Amino acid sequence: MTEASYPVPAEWAKDALIDAAAYDRMYAEAATDPDAFWAKEAKRLDWIVAPTKIKDTSFDESDFHIRWFEDGQLNVAANCVDRHADARPDAIAILWEGDNPDESRKISYAELRDEVSKLANCLKSRGVTKGDRVTIYLPMIPEAAFAMLACARIGAIHSVVFGGFSPESLCNRIHDCDSRIVITADEGLRGGKTVPLKANVDAALDHGDLAVETVIVVRRTGGKVTMTEGRDCWYADCVEGQSTDCAPEPMNAEDPLFILYTSGSTGQPKGVLHTSGGYLVWASMTHEYVFNYRPGEIFWCAADVGWVTGHTYSLYGALANGATTVMFEGVPNYPDHSRFWQIVDKYEVNILYTAPTALRSLMREGDDWVTRTSRKSLRLLGSVGEPINPEAWNWYHNVVGDGRCPIVDTWWQTETGGHMISPLPGATALKPGSATKPLFGVLPELVDADGKVLEGAVEGNLVIADSWPGQMRTVWNDHDRFFQTYFSTYPGKYFTGDGCRRDEDGYYWITGRVDDVINVSGHRMGTAEVESALVAHSKVAEAAVVGMPHDVKGQGIYAYVTLNANAEPSEDLRKELVQWVRREIGPIATPDILQFAPALPKTRSGKIMRRILRKIAENQLDQLGDTSTLADPAVVDALIAGREEAT
Ligand code: ATP
Ligand code: MG
Repeated sequence: MTEASYPVPAEWAKDALIDAAAYDRMYAEAATDPDAFWAKEAKRLDWIVAPTKIKDTSFDESDFHIRWFEDGQLNVAANCVDRHADARPDAIAILWEGDNPDESRKISYAELRDEVSKLANCLKSRGVTKGDRVTIYLPMIPEAAFAMLACARIGAIHSVVFGGFSPESLCNRIHDCDSRIVITADEGLRGGKTVPLKANVDAALDHGDLAVETVIVVRRTGGKVTMTEGRDCWYADCVEGQSTDCAPEPMNAEDPLFILYTSGSTGQPKGVLHTSGGYLVWASMTHEYVFNYRPGEIFWCAADVGWVTGHTYSLYGALANGATTVMFEGVPNYPDHSRFWQIVDKYEVNILYTAPTALRSLMREGDDWVTRTSRKSLRLLGSVGEPINPEAWNWYHNVVGDGRCPIVDTWWQTETGGHMISPLPGATALKPGSATKPLFGVLPELVDADGKVLEGAVEGNLVIADSWPGQMRTVWNDHDRFFQTYFSTYPGKYFTGDGCRRDEDGYYWITGRVDDVINVSGHRMGTAEVESALVAHSKVAEAAVVGMPHDVKGQGIYAYVTLNANAEPSEDLRKELVQWVRREIGPIATPDILQFAPALPKTRSGKIMRRILRKIAENQLDQLGDTSTLADPAVVDALIAGREEAT
């Protein structure tokens, strides 16, 4: 496949926060003198006690520890709210857009401080203190931001559970971190449909032997819910009469800020724990540099707060930098497929950050939905969550961005706290499908199965050789699992679990999970490559490729394909697609089986759950494992039914 390259546009090179020379200089400084580099970056925050000890970390088993800014004290909410409320009280912090386009709300930094403080006082009055866990199970409404920041203000640890999770998943997460308090809403609203959040909480609490004493309920839709006397109370009643004064709790830099369970695409979800100082420095720095954020710009991260992108960029990074952040309750295709672009025009969004899965779902509906809107406010586009296939990249660039806006393809993980490998728009020439180069303080290496470091243009397993401030500190309740999962495979290094290729220019290309690298007749191949080829066909909307046992080749290629709205599955099309991949990549990549699938199994954050596809391909239907974190478990039955016909 061709590897087109897009140089930094002239106006960006001239006017960027960080240009190519600055990138090189800062990268070298962070690598050679991390203490000096991070002492400087830490100044972006207001500290109660400024840190003097900067980096104290070791990935070695005998002396394993990760501490950043360890003698510093700060409060995250004070950094994200108060300092801006003092300086620019009327500046807009949150632009909230409801599921229904007629509903919206503007929240200034001064109002945000009042709302956060009232809820913080309410939590305190209910006995929540520093270090307690608070589970937040809310839709994308301003109260979700108030709740997270209220926890941060008093030093409670929040655990946000995505509003689409089932009672069982919610129950497991409440249990794992032992929350005594849950904040939820009567119902959520997505795409015109209600989601029974409070009923799910009730079911979760019936499910298990949980310690929950208080459930605070936001009235969102006014739908009927059952309130349990003595346990449940309405949000409005709880905050009524609470003071808007609440002194932020001084927190040590290494005190926990939140727990977030990973999406579970590779196994049982882990309670990823992030701390205060290092995380916020990382969130703020990456938000500013990667998005080239300038004061006054409108920033929209379309991710739900239920996953890490919503935490770090909708909320913490954006607000730490005093940005105006757009919060959208709904879905990209309601009331119609133009909704994203209507929101861009309505709020004159400058920076849009979304996931390839959303782009592909919009792309399949045709360009008209996009081109009928203006989008002239857009300056920069971002992508996150999975490798973006060049087809979707080009569409994002040419159709959404009218060829004007650079795309930052940001590789990172819940575990990393923020961006790790990403272009900087004023510094990095872009190659569609590549996350390009590491950010400051990120030391990526590619290693082979034995841990030998590979040099030059090569493919291998992606590890990070040293600590960075935004890194997770532990798996909640299971420090041993933290060490085992991330530091034992390649001793002394953080193992990402991702496969990756580095090209001649030192650009990184994530090829998918290491588990997803397949070996066909001795040729190692990233599944992402075959998927990109399939999606490049005009009739294909989405594809997922997994390995399957093959007598001759060792592993064969099993492809699941979802077609565009205007295409029908047929035997001819199946043959055409197989030939197409053969032509695009080569005979070695010819799919052995190609199954048309009405939909693919995805996690709540939009990631394809390949372990399920692998089991179906291997015909091990009794070993599908935990499917409770799927967005739509019914998809699995349809896939099993479709297997018959494909094989
Ligand atoms: P679990 O760890 O429970 O399986 P998860 O890994 O799906 O959950 P996340 O932390 O949200 O949860 O996902 C991180 C992964 O997403 C990365 O390891 C990588 O595989 C993929 N990813 C994220 N952004 C990109 C990107 N820009 N390009 C390629 N892959 C990406
Ligand atoms: Mg992961």
